[in-house]
Amino acid sequence: MTAVDVPAGSPFGPENLPYGVFSVGGGAPRVGSRLGDTVLDLSALLTEPDDAVFAAPTLNPFMAQGPARWARVRERLTALAGADLPTAALHPVQDVTLHLPVEVADYVDFYASEHHAANLGRLFRPDAAPLLPNWKHLPVGYHGRSSTVVVSGTDIVRPCGQRKTPQEDAPTYGPSRRLDIEVELGFLVGVGTGLGDRIPVEDFAAHVFGAVLVNDWSARDIQAWEYVPLGPNLGKSFATSIGAWVVPLAALAEARVPVPGQDPQPVEYLRGGEDWGLDVDFAVDWNGEEVARPPYREMYWSPAQMLAHMTVNGATARTGDLFASGTVSGPERHQRGAFIELTWGGAEPVTVKGEERTFLEDGDEVVISATAPGPDGARIGFGEVTGTIRPAR
Ligand code: CA
Repeated sequence: MTAVDVPAGSPFGPENLPYGVFSVGGGAPRVGSRLGDTVLDLSALLTEPDDAVFAAPTLNPFMAQGPARWARVRERLTALAGADLPTAALHPVQDVTLHLPVEVADYVDFYASEHHAANLGRLFRPDAAPLLPNWKHLPVGYHGRSSTVVVSGTDIVRPCGQRKTPQEDAPTYGPSRRLDIEVELGFLVGVGTGLGDRIPVEDFAAHVFGAVLVNDWSARDIQAWEYVPLGPNLGKSFATSIGAWVVPLAALAEARVPVPGQDPQPVEYLRGGEDWGLDVDFAVDWNGEEVARPPYREMYWSPAQMLAHMTVNGATARTGDLFASGTVSGPERHQRGAFIELTWGGAEPVTVKGEERTFLEDGDEVVISATAPGPDGARIGFGEVTGTIRPAR
């Protein structure tokens, strides 16, 4: 038996206790939590009948048990965090393999940052108003591809597709020349709904399990040519990376902030309820050099508004649904969460390790990390979401 040593200032202190799926030495993947630099094997530590869900290779069975169970398990984990634990249930984080934590059901990607939407509007439609007429009336989104959601650390193969610059008469086919990132926060649905039901803004916490880092890899040249009039498709669907640790909503209570004022007032189903945003600070490292620090607290639409909108037509929500915020960008240049914004379409390169850079090159590595305020000055860590670009096939 041993107590877990938590390094001072760790963003994985007992206030956090995120969930993930891990394996050791080629063994079966199972559910763990993280305390300091130690992974707690919940399949070994929690042994009541309902705890069989922790032997599963995804968080889905636990997420489906609902908020009363999530709260009860968190209480028990908090007690374990200060106790002597069986050494066989503790693993140094560097010794485990972290897996995709969730079997992703459906995936919807929103566009909730006014700064990002306005910047992209200026870049994609320079002769028109930055925001389209619907943007302040509903959280704009599109359906992504859940089967290509991958865990942090998965290599990203440069996608091929049709590209056409405004100067070219016809498209050509080939590897994307404008491969980019999008810094986002994702939310995971634990408890779903039936066909025809909806999730009002006040019911957010009854359905949403937690939050996870997202990098929505984007091929800007493919996207720019294909997106009219139906929105993103192949420019996005080749890969979306998520972090290995899912931070429960309960760990983010201190991070809640009011969303910026919404003008005009949205229609009724988007008003009231859980109208908070989150004070999450991201950092983006490009080949080991920090190039941006996007702030989530600037986001225009709240997570509850996104979920209410996603289901207001009666579309089913399912355990494992992932909805992502859209690129997180603030008003300052160093707060932009995509390289197309950071380099203004490639016209204003950034310096990375002494080289002028615009979009991603083969071999580049991007690491996105984030923390949020916790109780008593603690920080709540989301870990990181990383990926390295491999040549097109
Ligand atoms: Ca996106």
